[in-house]
Amino acid sequence: MKYLKIYKLAIFLLLVFSYLPAYSFVSQKDEYKRLREEMVQKQLVKRGITDPSVLEAMRIVPRHLFVLKAYRHLAYADHPLPIEARQTISQPYIVAKMTQSIDIKKGEKVLEIGTGSGYQAAVLAHLTNKVYTIEIIEELAKKARETLKKLGYNQIHVKWGDGHAGWKEEAPFEAIIITCASSQVPPRLFEQLREGGRIILPLGNPLTSQTLTIITKVNGKPETKRILAVRFVPMTKR
Ligand code: SAH
Repeated sequence: MKYLKIYKLAIFLLLVFSYLPAYSFVSQKDEYKRLREEMVQKQLVKRGITDPSVLEAMRIVPRHLFVLKAYRHLAYADHPLPIEARQTISQPYIVAKMTQSIDIKKGEKVLEIGTGSGYQAAVLAHLTNKVYTIEIIEELAKKARETLKKLGYNQIHVKWGDGHAGWKEEAPFEAIIITCASSQVPPRLFEQLREGGRIILPLGNPLTSQTLTIITKVNGKPETKRILAVRFVPMTKR
């Protein structure tokens, strides 16, 4: 009788523990850290992202806190994800590729057009302390500002507005990173670029596909270098 009870108890305990998901023994935070490291190795290092400061930034920024709650489990997967207002957060590789290509040095002033979730801005903030970002959708600008503040990125300036106009009061910039698709380099952004400065953007048809392109201001004139075929959401006007 007694043995039967112990036997039943053992089976009960076995059932309970086998149903407990494995991750409950590891903290969620550690699990996201592990996923981030895996993302860095498999998606970035393997594809030629070599800049240690970019890899370090991608290792630190908690991407899962920039995506919609419903997609948190996919935050470190190898693709873009939807955010509010029918916009998207770019694929981690594209964020890393753009950041590495624009080659930001400490102390340089950088402007982002298309704040979206705020993720790219957070990555940039690990490379320089002067990050300015503009978002045309008010709801997104507000939410990104909140997310960044909560995570302690107090040095990032978020403005609600149309990026075509740039940020005149803060110009000139050493680097401008446009994370929405445009068929041309917005002239006022080129004007707000310092001599020797770089703009990176998905240049091409905003409704189909574009080429990630770097424009460098040399003697006041644009020099163009094409990098990679991409697809971004369009740069809109107010
Ligand atoms: N960099 C973002 C993702 C960008 S998605 C991130 O890390 O999450 C592109 C964003 O550009 C969208 O949020 C869209 O609303 C914004 N956008 C489109 N046209 C714009 C414009 N003219 N000025 C500023 N932002 C614009």
